Amino acid sequence: MITIGVLGLQGAVEEHLNQIDSAGAQAIIVKKPSQLNEIDGLIIPGGESTTMRKLMDRYGFLEPIKTFFEQKKPIFGTCAGMVLAANRLSGDEKPYLELMDISVKRNGFGRQRDSFEADLAINGMEEPFKAVFIRAPYADGVGADVEILAEYDQKVVAARQEQVLVSAFHPELTGDNRYMQIFINMVKESLKEAELKTC
Ligand code: GLN
Repeated sequence: MITIGVLGLQGAVEEHLNQIDSAGAQAIIVKKPSQLNEIDGLIIPGGESTTMRKLMDRYGFLEPIKTFFEQKKPIFGTCAGMVLAANRLSGDEKPYLELMDISVKRNGFGRQRDSFEADLAINGMEEPFKAVFIRAPYADGVGADVEILAEYDQKVVAARQEQVLVSAFHPELTGDNRYMQIFINMVKESLKEAELKTC
């Protein structure tokens, strides 16, 4: 069985564990960088990205996560995780992990639409996906190699670039595990590719 780690420094950790479990993979909470060696894919959950980057610095996660990425292992950033994965942030803020060729606007939907739900058309899904947005970001710039998976109000809210997946919404907060399934399939693909290389 494949093992997915959820970065457990802050944010929506428990809900992710349950959804990974319901999608048929094993889930563990990652609290130390050495645990990255035990997992096949990593989720950086929602929460508060400024707090999360401070904690990631304090526990020495920055370089180990970059190495994990360079090993072509899949990473999924939800909400604050999408902010941390971006190569660029709008405004003066410095990007952090720089894993995906997107520019992200934090809290992009503003105060009026602090939190909301929307039925999203997501690439590859036949039925709409009920997406929960909480002080969500969106991507206001997307590189040519990035596949846009969903837009809301003409703003990019879900995307993939090779082994990195992001969503501005919180897929773990609904009973629908189809978005999580996209990530689990990416992890399966990456394991197959790694196996082929060692053959
Ligand atoms: N607005 C938060 C941030 O920029 C993200 C919110 C969330 O993860 N739900 O960190």
